[in-house]
Amino acid sequence: MKEKLIFDYTRPGKTGVLCSGPAGSPERHLPADLIRKDYANLPEVSEVETVRHFTRLSQLNYGVDSGFYPLGSCTMKYNPKINEKTASLEGFAGLHPMIPDSLAQGALRLICELQEYLCRITGMQACSLQPAAGASGEFTGLLMMRRWHQVKGTAHKNEIIIPDSAHGTNPASVALTGFRVVEVKSNSQGWVDIEALKQVVNENTAGLMITNPNTLGLFDGNIRQVADIIHAAGGLVHYDGANLNAIMGKCRPFDMGFDIVHMNLHKTFSTPHGGGGPGSGPVTVTKELRDFLPGPIAARSGDSFFMDHDLKHTIGKVTGFHGNFAVMVKAYTYIRMLGSAGLKAASETAVLNANYLLKLLDQHLKRDFPQFCMHEFVLSGRELPNGVHTLDIAKRLLDYGYHAPTIYFPLIVKEAIMIEPTETESLETLDAFASTMVRICEEAAANPELLKQAPVSTPVRRLDEVNAARKPVLCA
Ligand SMILES: *Cc1c(COP(=O)(O)O)cnc(C)c1O
Repeated sequence: MKEKLIFDYTRPGKTGVLCSGPAGSPERHLPADLIRKDYANLPEVSEVETVRHFTRLSQLNYGVDSGFYPLGSCTMKYNPKINEKTASLEGFAGLHPMIPDSLAQGALRLICELQEYLCRITGMQACSLQPAAGASGEFTGLLMMRRWHQVKGTAHKNEIIIPDSAHGTNPASVALTGFRVVEVKSNSQGWVDIEALKQVVNENTAGLMITNPNTLGLFDGNIRQVADIIHAAGGLVHYDGANLNAIMGKCRPFDMGFDIVHMNLHKTFSTPHGGGGPGSGPVTVTKELRDFLPGPIAARSGDSFFMDHDLKHTIGKVTGFHGNFAVMVKAYTYIRMLGSAGLKAASETAVLNANYLLKLLDQHLKRDFPQFCMHEFVLSGRELPNGVHTLDIAKRLLDYGYHAPTIYFPLIVKEAIMIEPTETESLETLDAFASTMVRICEEAAANPELLKQAPVSTPVRRLDEVNAARKPVLCA
């Protein structure tokens, strides 16, 4: 279906706007040589047609505010509207980033307290809110590792170990920082294979980056041993905490043996995301690494707050000014609204919701790991009948009005379907989604052609992905 353009409504002579106000025609105020000789090519439409056209276009976009969004690894939870209200308070939104500390005490207090909350949640001792996204937090952690090794006299260490279940940004950040990526296998349980880890650790090991729970939605029960092995080799351990949704108030990366953590405020701590930003990917660290943080960081002195520039080994700035401040206000609001008991309850509900949905779906799609899951789970479409693939299931879900889950990731599960319901969804929503998934699995048996053509009811039908990749049309 081809979408109408606003020009398609044009009828000569129609207008939606009156240019001449009480002061008369605008031409009166313009010098003669600036007045155009012919009419501009503008649509001739009425106001109501214009409003309806653009309102309808805005509704073609799918978002968390319009429906269930089970995109695994992305934590598409509902973002409370009060966050937007606080972030747009004039005192925050209108603050100039170069204003002196003494005139920005409220904003500095918010930054400082948010640093402290994130330290408490992760168990760490110092924090910088500068990084602008998850990948930016990874990059920051890796730069700190490099600087640490330079200061310790172990600058030859140039390898970072990453599990084969890792998020794609992890190896990309490692390469960007100039380290070499060394992959370690997962075992049949979905955890890091300890024997394989021992094989790849050596005297060039600078550190390891890992997510726990990992991208299979499983908590690696050997995590402390993994950290010990890296520490024994003189390396540091970075926790990819993009999704803390399963562990807030339940356990802390510090106690698992980590030195550096990054978090995505725009996932766990509720900021609308998915359209490309803005985000925020703070890092928290142990006290030994405080001086390496990107500075300045906020600090207290009695009742007042200031930006502390005195970090001896700082890697320097990783973003302009203080980072994405509006995202910090939203995260702060979210944390204060829930309190520590509420954060814990959010994690418990996220895990409960995921396990409930897993139980409803695991008789219909292949499941590789029998354990309970954490905030998300991975199933596989590899045993679907009639040559139906995971992609077809995802496309068919669009016909039923859902956003598709993450598919074909993590890479270690063939035909992967990765589902993360989050804590903000009701029992009714989970039941309705599960029965739709079951119905699609039945369609795979009864009417596979339908699935291979899906989506059939969306404004844009199935895309030719091969052609799109080989011959992209980058401007219309
Ligand atoms: C989302 C995510 C990232 C990357 O975060 P961005 O803000 O998109 O850069 C890294 N690791 C994991 C596990 C993630 O889910």
